Amino acid sequence: MEETVTYKNPNSKVIIKVINEKCISAATCIIHAPETFDLDANGIVYAKEGTWDEAEKIIKGAKSCPTTAIIVEDLEGNVLYPENK
Ligand code: SF4
Repeated sequence: MEETVTYKNPNSKVIIKVINEKCISAATCIIHAPETFDLDANGIVYAKEGTWDEAEKIIKGAKSCPTTAIIVEDLEGNVLYPENK
């Protein structure tokens, strides 16, 4: 069973879910959304506290992930990325 961690932010229009096992520390998500994503001490991505990047950048970061470790939803729980999930 994959462990999915959910991140919410009162200032953001999106909810971020990370499938930790899929993260291979490629860090391209951080290049697209540096105010949102960072790597923890184990090299696994997490969403930071504080103001996130705009939703478009967060989705770009998710799209850039080579392993599709990041899922982006709107506040109603509709999946914005990946499209077929
Ligand atoms: S791009 Fe994907 S694999 Fe790379 S750090 Fe971000 S979530 Fe992890």
